[in-house]
Amino acid sequence: MSTPSSSVSSVAKSNTIVIDDGKDESTQICKVAPARKLRSIVWEEFDKKKDEKGVDKAICIHCKENFDGKSTNGTSHLRSHLKRCSRRVKPGSG
Ligand SMILES: [Zn+2]
Repeated sequence: MSTPSSSVSSVAKSNTIVIDDGKDESTQICKVAPARKLRSIVWEEFDKKKDEKGVDKAICIHCKENFDGKSTNGTSHLRSHLKRCSRRVKPGSG
């Protein structure tokens, strides 16, 4: 009769203390912002205003010409104006 000397050693490799204070910036997840509708690049060059009737107007910041600014109409007409706007300084021309 021999007493089994089995000492089960379930010792962890190392006692690492993890401090989770949530301040680790390296683990921050870059959240992708939801796609913004309604904000087209043309609005960089148009002022959006309402006229006296409350109708949305888009005013070219270069020549002050005003256009229909309703978002339902899209911005293609504004875009095409920017292409032919005489007051607009075209990049690369000089
Ligand atoms: Zn213009």
